[in-house]
Amino acid sequence: MRSHGLRVTSPRLLVLRTLFCSKQPLNAQQIHQGVRDAGGHLDVVTVYRILAAFQEIGLVHFIGVSGGYSACSLGECHEEDSEHAVCETCGRVIELEVPELIRQSVSVPLEGVGFSARSVRIEILGQCQSCLTA
Ligand SMILES: [Zn+2]
Ligand SMILES: [Zn+2]
Repeated sequence: MRSHGLRVTSPRLLVLRTLFCSKQPLNAQQIHQGVRDAGGHLDVVTVYRILAAFQEIGLVHFIGVSGGYSACSLGECHEEDSEHAVCETCGRVIELEVPELIRQSVSVPLEGVGFSARSVRIEILGQCQSCLTA
């Protein structure tokens, strides 16, 4: 985190720790609650600001299907966009990298009809291993 010129301040650490300790993605309200439970004092606006900064550097991802943020599990700052498989039973997410070829198989045909795709997102829903075996 230091390498991105962000100071390692304790509010940031509190937010990050809350996200890392959670199996499910959390929205800003839930993170705020988690930080308070851990004895931290942050207002929701600060949580939003920290999340935006983290998202910018790829430390957390916003999972649209879940409506929450998840800590990156692939290591800081992977070059390519990743996608998240979301368990519909427990809400757990599994981060995976999607080969560029797969995105191109969507964006290239679109170019044929004159549409320039800025980003191709993939929604993956199902059940995680522990829910399958439960
Ligand atoms: Zn990631
Ligand atoms: Zn599950």
